[in-house]
Amino acid sequence: MTAAGMRVAVVGAGVSGLAVAILLRRRGVRCDVYEKSNALDAIGAGIQLSPNGARILHDLGAEPSMRRRGSTAGAIETRRWDDGALLSRVAHGSACEDRFRAPYYLIHRADLQSCLVDLLPPGQLHLGQPVSGAVEHGDRVELRLAKGGSATADVVIGADGVHSGLRGAVVDDEPVFSGHSVYRGLVPASAVPSFAHDPRVMFWFGPDRHVTYYPVSSGRTVHFSAVCADPSAGTAPRSARAGTAELLAEFDGWHEDVTRVLRTAGPVTRWGLFDRNLSDRFRAGRVALVGDAAHPMLPFLSQGASQALEDAVVLADCLTEHMADVPGALRRYEAVRLPRTAEVHRQARLRAHTFHLPDGPLQAERDAAMARQRDLAHLDWLYGDSVLSYS
Ligand SMILES: Cc1cc2nc3c(=O)[nH]c(=O)nc-3n(C[C@H](O)[C@H](O)[C@H](O)COP(=O)(O)OP(=O)(O)OC[C@H]3O[C@@H](n4cnc5c(N)ncnc54)[C@H](O)[C@@H]3O)c2cc1C
Repeated sequence: MTAAGMRVAVVGAGVSGLAVAILLRRRGVRCDVYEKSNALDAIGAGIQLSPNGARILHDLGAEPSMRRRGSTAGAIETRRWDDGALLSRVAHGSACEDRFRAPYYLIHRADLQSCLVDLLPPGQLHLGQPVSGAVEHGDRVELRLAKGGSATADVVIGADGVHSGLRGAVVDDEPVFSGHSVYRGLVPASAVPSFAHDPRVMFWFGPDRHVTYYPVSSGRTVHFSAVCADPSAGTAPRSARAGTAELLAEFDGWHEDVTRVLRTAGPVTRWGLFDRNLSDRFRAGRVALVGDAAHPMLPFLSQGASQALEDAVVLADCLTEHMADVPGALRRYEAVRLPRTAEVHRQARLRAHTFHLPDGPLQAERDAAMARQRDLAHLDWLYGDSVLSYS
């Protein structure tokens, strides 16, 4: 089969779906993206994009728009919940660009999505098209559209997120509730005046809880997420509006810098946090999963989007280099991505424990270990260059 003869259907227009579609299109493959939402209006929240993901965005040609729409983190700082004591500060900024050839971006999700959509040729994205299933017939896959009709492709890529319907074609499992919920919102830049001269990611660790905030929208706004233990969120609706009073009650007694941010919040949403147990399958026949559909992970390592971008590169490479054998290409994709994503998934779950330690000897040990991390060397395994090699 030639690139021009191959047809790929992608389900979902998040980071993973858009990136794989851009990459395949560049290699001459016809690729249609089916997105259930009528508009790409990512919820009001920020996202941190580490250099392993940022390098891929640069390779896609998104560097000018990422630099224009996002901010770059000068440092990542962690403080104690009550007295604000500094636990660690790791300079990113130019150190990150020197070591990893890309910055650490802080960006609003809608801006990230716009950076990617701008790179997709017109006519490839089909909004308002929920997909209800995929059925293989020999060497073709029929994609069933929930509003009626179907599309046929040589390969279907499930990029439909943590609650993926396409995942059922590959693995029989359910999302796993972490026991935590997260409040997310945006506040004006004036809530954290120091970001004007020191744009950075702020983490605050406390018992059963942590808070993160950083500038987005070129520094005009600050995004925060506040995570707390919340056994009830496992059965509650996936997302709900939350009041500032409820949020402040959760973080009663926290340092004034934190409560000032939370107090200033505009609309706040509360989400239950889910991942899934790691599967050893990212594909079956001619269906492949990418991003959160393949390996949803807790957000505590800030890696979901960057891992989704890595998936997109490896999958596009495997498919275009082994076109004559699509199932074989997907097996190769799976073999490359499984070990890498398993380690990131494991580390993310570990952080659900270490971030939220009660004050005591284990917390003191954690803080001492963090204080020893003075540069970026401990992140080579995650942000380094070798992760996409699949030969
Ligand atoms: C609180 C929180 C904070 C996070 N912070 C970070 C961070 O700082 N850095 C980071 O890298 N990652 C972070 N993540 C993870 C990151 O958001 C995800 O890993 C990433 O968005 C996954 O992208 P995706 O394209 O795989 O899935 P999604 O972004 O979920 O996109 C899936 C798309 O599929 C569509 N869809 C679903 N079902 C269908 C269907 N049946 N038919 C058609 N379309 C469908 C959806 O509408 C959606 O547009 C965070 C996650 C959370 C929850």
